[in-house]
Amino acid sequence: MAELVFRDDAYARACRARVLAVTPAGIELDRTVFYPTGGGQPGDTGSLLRPDGSRVRIAGTVKGEGADAVLHLPAPGEALPVPGEEVEAVLDWERRHRHMRFHTALHLLCAVVPAPVTGGQVAEDKARLDFDIEMERLVKETIEAELNRLVAEGHRVRPRWITDAELDARPELVRTMSVQPPRGQGGVRVLEIEGVDLQPCGGTHVADTREVGPLAVVKIRSEGARNRRVVLGFA
Ligand SMILES: [Zn+2]
Repeated sequence: MAELVFRDDAYARACRARVLAVTPAGIELDRTVFYPTGGGQPGDTGSLLRPDGSRVRIAGTVKGEGADAVLHLPAPGEALPVPGEEVEAVLDWERRHRHMRFHTALHLLCAVVPAPVTGGQVAEDKARLDFDIEMERLVKETIEAELNRLVAEGHRVRPRWITDAELDARPELVRTMSVQPPRGQGGVRVLEIEGVDLQPCGGTHVADTREVGPLAVVKIRSEGARNRRVVLGFA
């Protein structure tokens, strides 16, 4: 179990940490800024700086077994740290920041398209959401204009925690049909875009919609009988 620094501070680019375990599954730290793959957002990359000045490149990050366990995946051939060692965990910040901008953009898209979400994925150069909606209700120009209006309006974006009971009382908060937020942990993390959107989310986000930057709807296409996929890029 690690202290998840990114959960309360998405802008932390580095942190001091102690190595807890090194196994074929990956490297566990007592605290980390590395977001593990989940909720449609890719795991972070970066490096661990060792006391002797050498660097362990981290090629990916995934969830481990148990709550708040994070596995840092070393790039092939890297010399590994040892348990007990103090390291500095440093993100590939440019890549992560693009994930943050796109993840917030997908929440805006969710607010713009009034339909159930059936899936979604963030990448460095694009992001997509799938909706259960008729094709003729998705108009590229309208969606793009609405998105860019919300971006330009500069809405504040912040994570906060609500209780399971609050979530149960507001089922409309759960916009994704396939993924139910985890319960029984005393609370659910929600992401609020003030005046625009509120939904359960464990991802990392920018603090203000202006930071997303101008967006383009790259394509809209059918993915099976009920799925319509909207793909976004940076304009
Ligand atoms: Zn999210």
